[in-house]
Amino acid sequence: MVTQGHSAEAMRAWSLRQDLYAQLRTNPADIFRTQTAFADDNVCVCIDGRVKGKKNCAGAGILMTPLERMEYYRNARIGGIMSHEDCGAAGLAYKRDFGHAPASSEVLNDWAKFETRRMAEEAGVDYLGHVTPEMMHCGKHAELATFFVAARLPFSAHHAGIPLDGFVVSEGFYPNPDYGTTELGVTLSIAFGQHGMGHNEFFSKDRPYLVVGVGDPYRDSHRGEALYSKLDRAVLEAIEAGYVPTREHVEVHVVDVPLDIHARYALLDVVSA
Ligand SMILES: [Zn+2]
Repeated sequence: MVTQGHSAEAMRAWSLRQDLYAQLRTNPADIFRTQTAFADDNVCVCIDGRVKGKKNCAGAGILMTPLERMEYYRNARIGGIMSHEDCGAAGLAYKRDFGHAPASSEVLNDWAKFETRRMAEEAGVDYLGHVTPEMMHCGKHAELATFFVAARLPFSAHHAGIPLDGFVVSEGFYPNPDYGTTELGVTLSIAFGQHGMGHNEFFSKDRPYLVVGVGDPYRDSHRGEALYSKLDRAVLEAIEAGYVPTREHVEVHVVDVPLDIHARYALLDVVSA
């Protein structure tokens, strides 16, 4: 087993979850067994696997344009948003707005709080505060998977009876059809980067990182083979960008939402197609 270079905390997370990882890999449709994973809530948090939430986009929308953000909040019926400690997406947004990286993590965290509050006011939703390290599921990044939820469904890996650390991208609510794969790329860059489990060759052909597409049974463009190709393309782009070593380091699965769960939990009256 590879242990060198990984924090004790991350390795503890792995040893607790390797059975769940194996289970998810063999039978990804198991995520539908625990339906509490899909019960609605109206809070939007980051895609970061350390933060618990059911409607997720990078930095609670910090990388979207103001218009996209408002449309996303409306589509996903968001009532409130939260910032969190050491948010990678907030770091990218900081660079975008100031032209350089934040001088310290204190500067980044203060700005993330300020900016998320401003985004909330602008969009007419509540700012529900900052997720501190004590409130986080795991202090270090220990994600083994990205759940790419293409259905218009609230989803939480933490509530799915598979407390496997994973990023969650709530793509089904995004107004821009190309934006979801950008966020998937962000999750791969973190998972394989120096803060993620993937550095020092943790992931391999035999122990690949998992990308699980959760397909919308009623939209052909968001399910089955179409969804698989979209995710496969995003992985190839992440290889080109130098985040992921080879295609064999990532295993892509697609599971379409069963009709009964879709009927019970999906939010259908969204504005965009
Ligand atoms: Zn974040």
